[in-house]
Amino acid sequence: MTDVHCHLDNQLLGNYTPESGLVSITNGTGWKSSEKAIELASKDSSVWACVGLAYEKGFKLSEAEKRLENLAKNDKVVGIGECGLNYRQDTDDETKIYQHKLFRAHLAVAQRLGLPVEVHNRNADEDILKILDEFRDVKILMHCFTRGREFMNKCVENGFYMSFGGLVTYANNSRMKTMVKEVPSHLLLLETDSPYSVPAGIKEPHNTPTNVKIVAEVVAELRGCSVAELEATTDANARQLFFKLK
Ligand SMILES: [Zn+2]
Repeated sequence: MTDVHCHLDNQLLGNYTPESGLVSITNGTGWKSSEKAIELASKDSSVWACVGLAYEKGFKLSEAEKRLENLAKNDKVVGIGECGLNYRQDTDDETKIYQHKLFRAHLAVAQRLGLPVEVHNRNADEDILKILDEFRDVKILMHCFTRGREFMNKCVENGFYMSFGGLVTYANNSRMKTMVKEVPSHLLLLETDSPYSVPAGIKEPHNTPTNVKIVAEVVAELRGCSVAELEATTDANARQLFFKLK
């Protein structure tokens, strides 16, 4: 099984050691975190890295692209991420414009190196689609899909992959449950977003990639297929998108 989005460099995961048979793609959220992602991936054959700066303020846009490109050339880097747009209620226009530039820098690197991109989207459907339209040849994963049907239809139209995580396991999350039933099989992926997004029923305060199995059980039940079938489909999709995975 493949956890396409987690943060193994996060201190909350402590001494977590990846379970055998489980492939995980750890995403960077800054320079240190991206370097650490590569380091963790180099130590373990089942761990792969994406490098990215996420969306927080403070990165020098002038150096971001070049430096990111250098990191992304590493053999264990299978994609660019985390990156994207994060609109809170108080996000002002200046911040949005900065986020757009940082997001474009990630996409430009992905385009040059032919790598896929893991995209974070918080309340930014329209701007995400507008920016991605400038990079049509870049393969996209909408990570932790939480949006509605209209956005999903656009993703399907554009051939974007969508991954679902712990949030879909909660009984009251009927919108996500509906969405996960509707994703076309060839675009569906699983993730944990560890150490965040702990699935329902888990007592530990932090999530680990092992829990991707719990997500898989819930998703399989919702889609009316076996866990084995879902695993085969989503693993094949992961290898299709992250072509460097072995
Ligand atoms: Zn994340």
